[in-house]
Formats: sequence, structure tokens, C-alpha cells
Amino acid sequence: SSGLPAEDASSKSNADVFWAPFTSRDHHAHGASEAYSFASAAGNYYTTATKPHRQILDGVAGLWCCNAGHGRERITKAVTEQMRTLDYAPSFNMSHPIAYEWARRLVDLAPDNYKHAFFAGSGSEAVESALKIALAYHRANGQSQRRILVGRERAYHGTNFGGMSVGGMTNNRKQFEGSLLPNVAHMRFPYKPSMRFSRGMPDGFDDDADDFVNDLRHIASVHGAENIAAVIVEPIMGSGGLFVPPKGYLGKLKSACEEVGCLLIFDEVITAFGRTGRAFASDSPDFVRPGVESDKGGMADLVCLAKGLTNAVIPAGAVLAQAHVHDALQTGYEKMASDENLVANAPRAFHYSGMMPGLFHGYTYSGHPVAAAAGLATLDEYEAENLFSHAAQMAPLLEDAVHTLVDVPGGKECLADVRNYGCAAALELAPLRNKSTGAPMFGAAGRAFFQFAFEEGLFVRNGGQGGDHIVMSPPLSITPEDISFLHDALARSLSRMSQLH
Ligand code: PLP
Repeated sequence: SSGLPAEDASSKSNADVFWAPFTSRDHHAHGASEAYSFASAAGNYYTTATKPHRQILDGVAGLWCCNAGHGRERITKAVTEQMRTLDYAPSFNMSHPIAYEWARRLVDLAPDNYKHAFFAGSGSEAVESALKIALAYHRANGQSQRRILVGRERAYHGTNFGGMSVGGMTNNRKQFEGSLLPNVAHMRFPYKPSMRFSRGMPDGFDDDADDFVNDLRHIASVHGAENIAAVIVEPIMGSGGLFVPPKGYLGKLKSACEEVGCLLIFDEVITAFGRTGRAFASDSPDFVRPGVESDKGGMADLVCLAKGLTNAVIPAGAVLAQAHVHDALQTGYEKMASDENLVANAPRAFHYSGMMPGLFHGYTYSGHPVAAAAGLATLDEYEAENLFSHAAQMAPLLEDAVHTLVDVPGGKECLADVRNYGCAAALELAPLRNKSTGAPMFGAAGRAFFQFAFEEGLFVRNGGQGGDHIVMSPPLSITPEDISFLHDALARSLSRMSQLH
């Protein structure tokens, strides 16, 4: 048997009853839900639920989240013990020691400028928290008119209202058009055809970096620099298809944010915890402004975290904040109550007293003790196994493994681009075309490739804008043997792919 629940006679398949996120109808056709079901996991491999149980190399670390791989005993033990000791306690005007310890460990690990950790239950919640903190920060500083949030084309910042609105993946927005947040503007995503097949971070594109950053200045000239609250960016765009910005872009963006007077938020939900070969992108030299910020300092005002924060064993998110942001909010409500502009226009009176929170925002699961236990054990595991430096050592092997695919049979024909950075890589597939009309069938190549790779024993993620990007972010514990297996599975999949063109 498959180990999956028996499907009932009323024709409700398991896949119908379990309303899966971001999952297409086609996926469920022809028993696909049975075929693509994992029953267990250990190390860098999943085992399928259906017989014959197959070992599948986890090329995505789950969903960019199991950075230490699967079944880490230290984490399992810490979580189990914590559940027995203190299963839950709130963090609203209350606390528990392990949440304090978790905040301290994160702040210690982060670049020096980050002094405070706010906890949430997911990446989407971390993003909402950061956006709300940015808005509240400007109010606290008497600049309540700063309400415009700036995101980017193709960005992914989760699926809650703020993240969806500053996000730029068109399909994620389309279904909710008209209900997205007001006061949002978008810059372009910093990539152009001449950067294709760059190894690592595209180098030698200084003028293009300037050009892309000028988008913020254009937005400021239209909407007023004094009205812009924050810019949010993924240091490397992940779900959009793994787009690595050209060298210098993020540092130039920081300078433009300073000109405009707005905050800079790094959404490091996928780039943190070793993905770049360092603890954070924020502490990697490629992602700071050389000569102004050091990688030890970090340059974003706020940093969003999730996923590798707990090795995904327990859902969690966090926002790291620089002191000036946190401190402004400690007296923020007080300042708001004395902001003449706000008070004059307020439909309701402010009821302020010193007993009120600095930030009217938080979650039942903020600083959840079991998440804290998972988070601390995950940090111990990264450290004990030297996983960030291991990832840095594996990065050039992964780079070679994907870039040499251009030379395998079907490579030139099927590959529109290959990108990589640290322990992450992406293949952009040429779209399949309708045989009679020649029209591109977006997403079909991505889906077919996913299936081929799965049959070859490799789990990848198909998606991104158009759906034909194959993204890989394996566990940091990936070995040279795994990488060579990954290369061969990708090569065989490409060769099968070429038959479809
Ligand atoms: N931000 C980024 C950059 C992400 O990649 C993701 C998830 O993929 C999120 C936010 C949302 O995280 P979650 O799915 O935990 O809400």
C-alpha cells in the first residue's frame, strides 16, 4: 500500500480533500498526488510514500528551508524536551527564558548593527511585521506621511497582504487585483539578457546597476521622496527564479534609500542561514556597500528571517532591527499622540498612557518556546557541523555542475539561462511551444522537467515568472557525490526535455 489514506467512494480524492497551496489541478490528474508524496526523510534525501519507495535527492532543502538537511537528532531532541518542559507561553507582557536566549543568539550571529529580534510565525509574517515596523517608525519620528512601500517586479515576499502587494510575481497578484495595498510602487528587477549565464554574481555591469537603482529616484520624483517609507528587496530573488543582482547594485540602492530618507529592508527569508556561504547575505561582502558598510555591520535597517531559522522543523519567522528603528518605537506611541498633524486629522482620540506597547503588533506564536528550542538547536547544528563554511566549499562544485549543462546533449537547445550563487542554482528553460501555432506554453517545460528530474531521483522546484525556471537550493550538507548525482540527473532530464521541443 502507499501509506496514504484510502480514497472514498464519493470520488473525493486525497488531493481534493487536502486543499494544497500553490498547486494546480493538472498536478492532481493521473494520480500525480500519489506519485509526488514523501513519507520520510533523512540527511539530504527524501523517501517517496508510494512503493517502490524511492530515495530522492532533496535539491530544494524542502522549500529552501531545511538548510541542515533532514532528521537532525539534536533538533528533534531539543524540540521534544521543550514540549515536555514548557509547551507554550505567551510573549505579550510576559516572557520565558528560552525566547530571550534565542533573541540573543540571533543578534550575536547577525552583523553588529542588528540589536533586536522580533519573532513571528512564518516568513510572510516576518515581512508583514517589517513593513508595519517601517510605517510605525516614520510615524514615531513625526513623518506619518511616509507611507509608500517600494518593492520590485518579480519579487516574492510571501502571501499576506503586505508581502503580496510589495511582491511582483504577476500571477500571485492577479487573483487579488483591486484589493492589494494602496501606496505601493515597484522598481524593475535588476537583470537583463546580457547577464545570462553569469557565474555567481554578475560582474562588470556597473552602469546597469546605476540604471536599475535610478528606479527609486524616479518613484521619488513622481510620488515625493518625503512620502516613501521603505524599500524591500530580497538580496537574491529566490522564488522569482533565482536572480542574483549585479555587483554593486545593493550598495547603490542603499545610497538611494539614504537620499530619499526611507528605510531599507532585506528579506533574507531564503538567503539567511548559510545559503550564500555565510550566515546571512547581510554579512557577505557582495551584499554591502564597499567602503561605507562592512560585512560585519550589515546595511539594511530591518532583516526578515524564516525557513532556515528553525531548519523548518517548527514554523517560525523573525525580524532583526537596528537600534535606531527599535528605539524610535519605544516612545513611538507617545510621539504619535503629540504629532499635531496626526491628532488634527485623527477621526478618533488617541488613548495614550505609558503602559501601552511601543508597537501595536504581534502574534500568539511570537517567540513560541518550541520554535525557540528548534531555533537554538538549529544554530548549534549549523555551528557544530560548520555548515555555512561547508556550503561555501560546495558552492564552486554546484556552480560547475549547473554551468557545464550547456554542453550536455539538449543543453544548448533547452537552456535559456543558468544562474547560481552560494548553495543555490537555477536553470531557465526555453519554453515549449504549441506545435501548430508556435505560441509559447509557459510553465509546460518547467513542469515536464520537474517530472523528469523526479524520475531521475532528484527533487527540484519549477516555478518563477512564467513557470519555466528550475530552482535548486539543496541542504547545506550536500556532498560532492550528491552534486555529481544532481548534475547527472539534470543532464538526463535535459536530454529527455530536448525530445519535447
Ligand atoms: N520572503 C521570501 C523571500 C520567501 O522566499 C518566502 C517564501 O518562500 C517568504 C517571504 C514567505 O515565507 P512563508 O512561506 O514562511 O510565509
